[in-house]
Amino acid sequence: MKRFNLLVLLGLLILLSSCGESPPTEREDHFMGIAFCEVHGDELLEETVLPAPLTVEFEIEYQDAMEALFPNLGLAFAIDYPDQDSVVVEYCPACREANRLWLKEH
Ligand SMILES: [Zn+2]
Repeated sequence: MKRFNLLVLLGLLILLSSCGESPPTEREDHFMGIAFCEVHGDELLEETVLPAPLTVEFEIEYQDAMEALFPNLGLAFAIDYPDQDSVVVEYCPACREANRLWLKEH
């Protein structure tokens, strides 16, 4: 019984330590309070959008492309803003253009 508890504790410790190693989720660089796209270097613009219903799961390939090529699309999903009709998002115009081209090619 003691051994079982020890294993559970060990499992929890591994779980916690692997959480700490996850890469930072920061998607933009900040300079003097201004946010820039880390891919394109463009200043992020603000826009008010309606949170979209999340009806389809993004495919892994698209998710990877989004993170690497166009991380600042300024998407807002209703699931993240359940009580809001509109959300102010930051987006990079070059990211949106890259997203458009990527979708055209795939
Ligand atoms: Zn960008």
